[in-house]
Amino acid sequence: MTAKPLTDFSRLSINDATTKVQWTLEEEICGYAEMGIHGISIWRDKLQACGVKKAAGLLREEQMTVTGVCRGGMFPAATPEGRQAAIEDNWRAIDDAAELNAQCLVLVVGGMLEGSRDITGARQMVLDGLHGIVEHARQVGMPLAIEPLHPMYAADRACVNTMAQANDLCDALGEGVGIALDVFHVWWDPELKQQIQRAGKERLLAFHICDWRMPMSDMLLDRAMMGDGVIDIPQIRSWVEAEGYDGFHEVEIFSKDHWWKKPAREVLRVCKERYLTVV
Ligand code: ZN
Repeated sequence: MTAKPLTDFSRLSINDATTKVQWTLEEEICGYAEMGIHGISIWRDKLQACGVKKAAGLLREEQMTVTGVCRGGMFPAATPEGRQAAIEDNWRAIDDAAELNAQCLVLVVGGMLEGSRDITGARQMVLDGLHGIVEHARQVGMPLAIEPLHPMYAADRACVNTMAQANDLCDALGEGVGIALDVFHVWWDPELKQQIQRAGKERLLAFHICDWRMPMSDMLLDRAMMGDGVIDIPQIRSWVEAEGYDGFHEVEIFSKDHWWKKPAREVLRVCKERYLTVV
């Protein structure tokens, strides 16, 4: 089974890390819209630089849908004060996401403490942190999207590494919590299809796309354009859509030596071309 080919850009979103070094948020909002792309996912550093109110106004003017705010999470900390500070930072992220009318706040949950070998302890801190923010998220109506990250990031970025773990957290936390599925992180998982079925439409809050380059020169900043790697994106999209997912397809490419060195409009042109041919 494979996915129905995409024929227009009505569900294309660009995660603004894709044009991280070329454009400011203001330039992104206007530039994406000008190229017929009306979905955007926004990182908080650029959002702060622009100002939340100004960004919200521009997004309305250009009729942009914010498919995610990146990111909340990063819960583990060495002290109770540190863990509380992380929770409070997440509350602010939830409020900012709500002000932009975002579809979800993406959570990269955090890794192990420096010098620690205790991944179980880190995972407990993540669960505690999530318990500390879920009520606030429900109150303002902002869905929380847990993003499982590839296991190569388990130590330093996210100790939630599979869809199964993310589903377990959703079970534990209940309403208002779902998953951001990024093909870069989960394509290799032998349980992927079953865990997508387990998640179902309710929990599938975001679908991130790019590709897995061979060989990869940098584990964080060498993501490939769709079609330039080994991921069968149409197959994963077909599984997600079989569950009823009808949201955006969000291109998210961190690429310090390649795409970040090209003019933003050229990057977007290739994103659009590949979107119709290999996604
Ligand atoms: Zn992602």
